[in-house]
Amino acid sequence: MDYTKCLIIGSGPAGYTAAIYTARAGMNPILYEGMQQGGQLTITTEVENFPGYPKGINGPAMMEEIREQVFRFKADVRSGEITEVDFSRRPFICKSDAGTVIQAETVIIATGASARFLGLDSEKEYYGYGVSACATCDGFFYKGKDVAVVGGGDTAAEEALYLSRLCRKVYLVHRRDCLRACQELQKRIFNTSNIEPLWNYVPEEITGESQKFDKTVTGLRLKHVLSQEEKKVDVDGVFIAIGHHPNTTIFQGQLLLDDQQYIVTKPGSSHTNVEGVFAAGDVQDRNYKQAITAAAGGCMAAIDAERFLGSI
Ligand code: NDP
Repeated sequence: MDYTKCLIIGSGPAGYTAAIYTARAGMNPILYEGMQQGGQLTITTEVENFPGYPKGINGPAMMEEIREQVFRFKADVRSGEITEVDFSRRPFICKSDAGTVIQAETVIIATGASARFLGLDSEKEYYGYGVSACATCDGFFYKGKDVAVVGGGDTAAEEALYLSRLCRKVYLVHRRDCLRACQELQKRIFNTSNIEPLWNYVPEEITGESQKFDKTVTGLRLKHVLSQEEKKVDVDGVFIAIGHHPNTTIFQGQLLLDDQQYIVTKPGSSHTNVEGVFAAGDVQDRNYKQAITAAAGGCMAAIDAERFLGSI
């Protein structure tokens, strides 16, 4: 059994920042990186709003630099996932997917959030065969082709702009008549000639062809939310960008979660309802969800954990 003063679960900006602070505070943290090392920023393109990068930086490169900083302070960074936690008494007992048991005096949860899907059967059927939630990962396969992006937030706007540089045509399908994305992204969307917004439409079905060993997407059947009129667009790929849900499954029954399954923290702090367990980043943030606010949350959680250890 391993023992640590601080176990950090998750490796986005929140988890890595918590590791930098706790390692520098002499807490010898163990950090489990989870299935997506570096978190959601590793599947984004350009990050232009993180201070310190005047020319912008791509998401994976930024996370690699933050990770390097974690190693500089000799945190024990492990690949793999924490799959079970017992927060009923301290030290807390946590288990990894490799069967390692860790006793932890404090735990910082920074497991982030994952892409949300529409819930259509056809979306499941063609996932990985023309349906994707990551333009940076899969955009390459649609060079010169026509695609659709579903959603109206910053993610959808960024995905559409990224794909517009590779694809012949990008339909931006949104359920309302205006975007939620920030003004700067909206400006770029409206100035990009091969992006066509389809307002007030929701996807009804992703159509395609299934052969024995292969499947391909051929189109998207849409319904107008006001007139109920149907429309079909011919596309080779559909990118879903309709937001995220917090990764809190393993904490159900252990911690207080809100109605959308986000971890509830005490206002202005990272304290959860269990003393010694802290949460930072998108796993507890319904509002801001930025790399910079996640990093700030990681810092707060590290300081809260250090103070907690000093107080017992
Ligand atoms: P958002 O929650 O901001 O947007 C989700 C979009 O999907 C909304 O337009 C929403 O519609 C639409 N939507 C939700 N559910 C459905 C559904 N079932 N069917 C059809 N459409 C649906 O999520 P994002 O992932 O875009 O962004 C999350 C956070 O990350 C935000 O805070 C954003 O600012 C941040 N972010 C920042 C970036 C940056 O700074 N460069 C880049 C990417 C994300 P409606 O508008 O009607 O609610």
